[in-house]
Amino acid sequence: MIFPSKHIEDAVGEFTKLPGIGKKTALRLVLHLLKQPLKDAEQFGSTIIKMRREIKFCRNCHNVADTDLCAICLNPARDHSLVCVVETLRDVIAIENTNQYNGIFHVLGGIISPIDGVGPVSRT
Ligand SMILES: [Zn+2]
Repeated sequence: MIFPSKHIEDAVGEFTKLPGIGKKTALRLVLHLLKQPLKDAEQFGSTIIKMRREIKFCRNCHNVADTDLCAICLNPARDHSLVCVVETLRDVIAIENTNQYNGIFHVLGGIISPIDGVGPVSRT
């Protein structure tokens, strides 16, 4: 793919690093951003940077959090005696969106698979 600008080529390259985004989709997204007011593109970029820099992992359950503890662990209305062990954050989001679970979680952050060379890792 030939690009009229190195900046566009670089931006397309960054988008294609995302899962499920090929070069055509990346170019469509980049051209969309190019049409937006500068402040919207700046907001997009700064939101991603801020999320990446400031996201924390709950010291209790390893869910994502804005503080040392996640909103679920901080919620006194949750049943803290009920723990659902899940593989990833995606599982937390899926279960939370059912509005049927009132316990807390323990997020493994991946599964241990010795056959694939994935062993237990300490997060501390
Ligand atoms: Zn938590």
